[in-house]
Amino acid sequence: MRLVLLGAPGSGKGTQGMRIARTHAIPQVSTGDILRAEIAAGTPLGAKAAQFVGKGLLVPDDVVLSMMKERLKKPDVKVGFVLDGFPRSIPQAEGLTVLLAAFAADLDAVIKLDVSKRVLLERMTGRWVCGSNCGAVFNLRSNPPQKEGVCDRCGGRLVQREDDTEETVRKRLNVYEASTAPLIDFYDSRGILMIVDGEGTLDEVTARIERGLAERGIARN
Ligand code: AMP
Repeated sequence: MRLVLLGAPGSGKGTQGMRIARTHAIPQVSTGDILRAEIAAGTPLGAKAAQFVGKGLLVPDDVVLSMMKERLKKPDVKVGFVLDGFPRSIPQAEGLTVLLAAFAADLDAVIKLDVSKRVLLERMTGRWVCGSNCGAVFNLRSNPPQKEGVCDRCGGRLVQREDDTEETVRKRLNVYEASTAPLIDFYDSRGILMIVDGEGTLDEVTARIERGLAERGIARN
């Protein structure tokens, strides 16, 4: 099963991606997580990416594509994958098609999570993530941690993402509209777009995704 999660920042790609990955036993590949890890490790790629990520801008397509070319060579993605945050532009989507063709593979579905701008802003400015990189994400309003400032999953300290300030969030939403939203038509014209209402509880959204996959006959793995 090869899936892409598409949607504005804050639409739930990371959280739902984690759930899909667990249910279907496929790896979740998040370009945002990979880039943040490179930045934290101070690698040359991280140094280049940091200039863009901190400002809410997209990292250049050639940088992301060569990073994904390496990632998709790893053996764990042989069983399939759920991509979260990639592709984010038409050149990236075209690049992904070429990368997959090298494995004689194609995408099964592109899941677009639909969330209103008001809810996106609320989610991102209230978002706290685990600083120990266990991947857990909380929201002070809709999904608070049991103990303030502490990760329910691993006990790590919760932190706010540097790019979740209101000003950067607005910029990221504009970047999404300009560069990423055109992918909706790109994948619709290929007949693999699945639009899912991304508002409501986490379980409601997960159930909608699973129903959509089942209706399309996209089998497990
Ligand atoms: P995310 O965690 O998906 O919200 O990504 C955080 C930031 O990482 C974005 O605002 C971009 O600066 C960068 N980023 C993540 N994925 C990509 C991508 N596919 N192309 C370009 N930049 C990306």
